[in-house]
Amino acid sequence: MQGDQSGSRRADHWQRKFYQSLDELEQKEKEWSELEAMLRRLATRLTLVADSSNPAFDKQLDTLRSALRNEHNNQRLKKLIDEVTTTISRMEPGPAGPQIEATPCKSLEALLDEMNIPRSLERQERYVRKKLAAVRDPAETGGVVKDVAELLALIIDRHADKKTEHLIAERRQPAEAESGKQHPGQAEKSSLFAGLFGRKSAAKHVAEADNTPAQDEKTREAVEALSATDAIRQPAGDENPAEVAESGRIVLAADTLIKLLEKLQLPDDLYLQADLIKRRLEPCKEEQQLVAGLDATAELVAEMQQRVQQEKQELEDFLRQLTERLHELDQDLRETARLREQSQHAGREINKTVAGEVHGIEQSVRQAVDLESLKTAVQSRVIIIRDHMDRFIESEELRHGQSKRIIKKLTAQLQDTEAEVDALRQQLAEAKDAALRDQLTGIPNRLAYDQRIAQELARFKRYASPFSLMIWDVDKFKNINDTYGHVAGDKVLTIVAQFLQNNVRETDEAARYGGEEFVIILPETRGKQAQSLAEKLRSGIEQTPFHFRNSRVVITASCGIAEVREGEDAAALFSRADSALYRAKEKGRNRIEIAD
Ligand code: GH3
Ligand code: MG
Ligand code: MG
Repeated sequence: MQGDQSGSRRADHWQRKFYQSLDELEQKEKEWSELEAMLRRLATRLTLVADSSNPAFDKQLDTLRSALRNEHNNQRLKKLIDEVTTTISRMEPGPAGPQIEATPCKSLEALLDEMNIPRSLERQERYVRKKLAAVRDPAETGGVVKDVAELLALIIDRHADKKTEHLIAERRQPAEAESGKQHPGQAEKSSLFAGLFGRKSAAKHVAEADNTPAQDEKTREAVEALSATDAIRQPAGDENPAEVAESGRIVLAADTLIKLLEKLQLPDDLYLQADLIKRRLEPCKEEQQLVAGLDATAELVAEMQQRVQQEKQELEDFLRQLTERLHELDQDLRETARLREQSQHAGREINKTVAGEVHGIEQSVRQAVDLESLKTAVQSRVIIIRDHMDRFIESEELRHGQSKRIIKKLTAQLQDTEAEVDALRQQLAEAKDAALRDQLTGIPNRLAYDQRIAQELARFKRYASPFSLMIWDVDKFKNINDTYGHVAGDKVLTIVAQFLQNNVRETDEAARYGGEEFVIILPETRGKQAQSLAEKLRSGIEQTPFHFRNSRVVITASCGIAEVREGEDAAALFSRADSALYRAKEKGRNRIEIAD
């Protein structure tokens, strides 16, 4: 019995201890999460003011950094953090300006949106954004691109300076980097690229303060893309940190420039020039090379702008000529109308004259006393009539001659105008064709796909004729760019695109949807049939011999297929095929999946 009592007391004792330690644990967790939240807020704000050069603030930061490593008293740590936060809040810029509306220069604006632009460049940024917002006609984008390129060069320079400082600091304090006290985001933020493209996530941090937000998808891709590039291209770790930073800066700038060049919509011959610039930037190690690349891009943009201006001028000239001709035509038509009016008037006059003379003859007949006087009277009246008739015919001939000349002139003008309109029509057809073609690969582009899918959906609605959609995505394509360069990547895209186009029916439509994604619309084709064709295409791509730097590289692609369903629109069909593609990627790539 006693044994039982002491047993239950012990159990109570352990239970209490258990609850007590649970409470303690909870309390600690709460403290840590508060601390973590504070650190996150702090890290966010630090990224926003990172370019401020305030010695007192730097000192505060140093103290905080060493406290973060050594201090275990949360209260003291909290006090330090509060001090730094107060300093920062005094330095913070005011609320963000109004949202800039989407314009045709959206992609350039998106590029700026993704960049973490130092405060010292805010004025330039505002200027460029204002210019971007003012662009109404996409053809005018050319001029602004130059400003964007210049701003990018400035941003890169500023960030590179920071990166150099950071790298030097890191080399001095390797223990700090390994201490594990850093916020997980900090490692990312320390990369130069993360510094450049960190704005969206930083802004979100401010808004959501305590939560770690999911990084913006685009930013994440960009960071991944460049950190992979960094990994491949950055020199080995035992080099001088300033040199490391310098070469990182050049590689980054070259990559940004290449991305900018990829975004430019250029006519075919300038596209080749852009390609050449990209090719020269590919193994970009020296500043000179980069500067040459920037110069060449600026020239390219200037050339593009000149072309656009020239085209605009030609069109304006043509329209002016056309207006002048129409004006002349109007004058000539008025003249012929006037001549016709004159002719009618003269006709009426002669009728009146003849009628008067005939009346006079009648009277002469009635009043005639002898034949001789009658003969004389009639003869004189006939002479008058003939005289009037002669004059009438003469002036009619004159008017007829004038009308003929005008008609001849009008016919010639009409022929000229028709020829010019034909030439213009031809130009328009060519421009339309170019607008539907992807410049890099030469196959139809996304716009062509959008139009064709709308037609096929309309046919399906009307005649219930089935069709299928394939989405192809080159596997691990980023690795190809990163390992062999963008130019090699571009070649792969061209070969894959041509392969797809050449291996489907003429009635099928293969198009580049964007990046390394292609779509194929297969009219009168069920999902199962599409699947067996896709299998052939897949193995064909795998067997296509790609050679880079004298070694064979196997390229593969994955595919998602969906057969159209009743009541489905283009987006829903695409989404099903895309989900199937996602499954194909998940299951290991180089394979085909069909939507149910
Ligand atoms: P996954 O197998 O999952 O599809 O991996 P991935 O690397 O192919 O996919 P991800 O979407 O991560 O990368 C696509 C890459 O394609 C990133 C982008 O830089 C590159 N890219 C997009 N357009 C072009 C282009 O016109 N030329 C070149 N060379 N590369 C491009
Ligand atoms: Mg893709
Ligand atoms: Mg891919």
